[in-house]
Amino acid sequence: MSNRPPDVMDKLVSLCKRRGFIFQSSEIYGGITSCYDYGPLGVELKKNIKERWWKAMVQQRDDIVGLDASILMHPRVWEASGHVEGFHDPMVDCKQCKKRFRADEVEGPRCPECGGKLTEARQFNLMFKTHMGPVEEEASIVYLRPETAQGIYVNFLNVLNSSRKKIPFGIAQIGKAFRNEITPGNFIFRTREFEQMEMQYFVKPGTDGEWFEYWREQRMQWYYELGIRRERLRFHEHGRDELAHYAARAFDIQYEFPFGWKELEGIHNRTDFDLSRHQQYSGKDLTYFDDQTRERYVPYIIETSAGVDRTLFTCLVEAYDEDVVEGELRVVLRLSPKVAPIKAGVFPLVKRDGMPELAHKIVDMLRPHFMVFYDESGAIGRRYRRQDEAGTPFGITVDSQSLQDQTVTVRERDSMRQERVAIDRLVELLRERVA
Ligand code: ATP
Repeated sequence: MSNRPPDVMDKLVSLCKRRGFIFQSSEIYGGITSCYDYGPLGVELKKNIKERWWKAMVQQRDDIVGLDASILMHPRVWEASGHVEGFHDPMVDCKQCKKRFRADEVEGPRCPECGGKLTEARQFNLMFKTHMGPVEEEASIVYLRPETAQGIYVNFLNVLNSSRKKIPFGIAQIGKAFRNEITPGNFIFRTREFEQMEMQYFVKPGTDGEWFEYWREQRMQWYYELGIRRERLRFHEHGRDELAHYAARAFDIQYEFPFGWKELEGIHNRTDFDLSRHQQYSGKDLTYFDDQTRERYVPYIIETSAGVDRTLFTCLVEAYDEDVVEGELRVVLRLSPKVAPIKAGVFPLVKRDGMPELAHKIVDMLRPHFMVFYDESGAIGRRYRRQDEAGTPFGITVDSQSLQDQTVTVRERDSMRQERVAIDRLVELLRERVA
């Protein structure tokens, strides 16, 4: 298993660029801080992670439905949510080198970079502001949403009435969020534009404790099933001083990144804070009527809030490995086949004798079901290595025997073991192993 080299971050950043997982945004112009673009392999990995989440949270459940709310919302939303007033981080500036830091991340009164003197801490609102329409005036200010959750709360009634769900039920959403972070960094760990996978579960007050425990366990299980090692995952409960203004209880799921234990996902008991506030600010009745018990109440909300990019980063860090094969260093991404961007490489052993033609036929057969990649250039060992680095779990090779008996070799990325398989069994075999 992975032994995580000490310079894994540098190696991963360079692999991500070399192989087309992640690029610096606007690189030909010198890049823009903390913005990243997902390349051909990255976009597949990201899509697979989102699909797995959607499947677990929506498709396979009766009690959760999906939503895709707009990024720009009525500005009053952010007053009701508390973001205009309270979504601040304390910030300090270095008087000497002018660098800016989050005050809670600096130990002491001196600049961690140059040792210069720091300013007093000032509050800095993390929301990006822009203007709606052609006139740039105070009245036209709108915000890029700093979380997807509010789009769910303001649609509570719409979803309730159209889906006819009964409490307890949830609304799930995947979408972009923006935060003008003071100190972004560690590659895609903290960026100013990122994607969230959030689910808000509406429950009857008094049952929130149980549901909180339930979702905490469910969400941890999801990471186990993604192939993240258990010993690199843990819960961290927020103490009183860490709790957000809306939360009665909060647990983070943390992962042991190369730079320490950090949050991957937050599970929060948000009480009736959000719906009560939106009720107050919008003047609309957001209570729920339980027709069995004849009770009316403002539902409590249990939130599960995960980052797509952070999960993707975790999968990559977890997967990066090096071993020595036939005296040569092999870089291999041991990604779970469930999320690997390409499921199989298809290779003719040599570029003649009808092998490329048969290999193309196999690609055509597999393509409707899986992402596959055809490669005929270079020695077969090199082609395997290229796919190892891309995290492709299987290599299918057409050789001279294939032309006679319609079988191929299937090489497994991690063990490098090969087995002979009939071509007409390939779809079934891959389906079993990548599901
Ligand atoms: P922090 O305290 O580290 O700034 P947070 O507690 O504000 O994070 P939440 O508001 O709970 O984070 O966000 C939920 C999830 O969204 C996080 O667990 C993380 O996966 C993701 N996330 C939040 N901010 C960022 C960011 N700047 N870049 C990438 N992902 C983020």
